[in-house]
Amino acid sequence: MRMIPPVLACVLVGAAAAPARAQTPQTDTAPDPIKTLVERLDLERYKATIKGLTQFGDRRQGTDRNRQAVDWIEAQLKSYGCPTDRIKYVYDPPPTQGSGRGRGNAGGLAVGGGRPRGVRTPTGVNTDPLKQPDEKLRALDMQPTTPGPREMVYCTKVGTTHPDEMYIVGGHMDGHGWGEAANDDGSGTALVMELARVFSAPDVQTERTIRFALWNNEETGSQAARAYIAQRQALQGKEDPPGSKQYPEPKWLGMIQHDMMLFDHGMPNADGTIPKQQRPEADVNVEFQMNSKMAAESQKLAWVFEAANEKYATDYPAAVGSHMTNTDSGPFQDLIAAISVRENERGVQIGSGWDPQWHQPTDVYATYSDKDFRLGLNAAQTTLGAVAGLTGATLKK
Ligand SMILES: [Zn+2]
Repeated sequence: MRMIPPVLACVLVGAAAAPARAQTPQTDTAPDPIKTLVERLDLERYKATIKGLTQFGDRRQGTDRNRQAVDWIEAQLKSYGCPTDRIKYVYDPPPTQGSGRGRGNAGGLAVGGGRPRGVRTPTGVNTDPLKQPDEKLRALDMQPTTPGPREMVYCTKVGTTHPDEMYIVGGHMDGHGWGEAANDDGSGTALVMELARVFSAPDVQTERTIRFALWNNEETGSQAARAYIAQRQALQGKEDPPGSKQYPEPKWLGMIQHDMMLFDHGMPNADGTIPKQQRPEADVNVEFQMNSKMAAESQKLAWVFEAANEKYATDYPAAVGSHMTNTDSGPFQDLIAAISVRENERGVQIGSGWDPQWHQPTDVYATYSDKDFRLGLNAAQTTLGAVAGLTGATLKK
């Protein structure tokens, strides 16, 4: 069990009540509408959405294949009945800048502040096209990135009684490394799209608003998420036009990011190889950042997800951790409750080599088995159950 710092212990006592509340028996025999919604998720549909994203290769930001992927995602969201909009911004990196992301902190701690243990293998971003053996995919990924205008797409389910308050459910649609970005982050993007589909069904209503955000430029430092905050933070909760009961930017109640959902084969073996199969004890990792201004609120949100997993996820449990890092929920972590949902903890597990496909040419759809895709489906069940509860989802009679 994780050691809990004293500053957070009091919060945890309060939060520990959350699972008990979620399990309160219903007094009548009415079916749980949230369970019905969770059952509308489907492994084959989730896989098909990931497969659809991989037709645009690694979807690297600043390329035609990235722009085509944004268009494709928007068309799918519209077809689900989820009205879309875009954020426009400019990405002009200084020529010498790399990804700008450290892999470790002083004192031997992982990025995010966790303490690595056990066998560790090297990680990095592949930049060599010749490492992609599939010539068709290599050609698809060939166009280089150029600085300039960028766009991201989101869609919105408007709440009935509290349209002025919302949760943001996000994933990043860009990738790199000369593969198909199937797991990083086709798996998170597809999860968000599948939730948009379920929540946008004509018989579903929610009291509060949900925004489904497909961030761009995550791999270069979350520039789309930062642009979203810069452009829209001050608009929160404002009725526009006045008297219209319309809120273009509802007040942000929380941000939940999904980034790499499929692969939890465990720690590398002593010889540096990775176990071939999804480990039976695989879990969904829900992380908050203990060194953020909103740590208490974020931790509380994380435990809501843990409880929703207990209630609604069919195969794999959830584990809560305190070192969220390097994802689009980061720019929100000092503003609102912010968590990430992943296959592994980002700092001490992925950072120690637990996912050998990470930013590599092997991150292609064909690499993954149904047991891998099922972990992503369980994350979708977890988030859908949690967000449905938080926003008061019901089915119209
Ligand atoms: Zn990612």
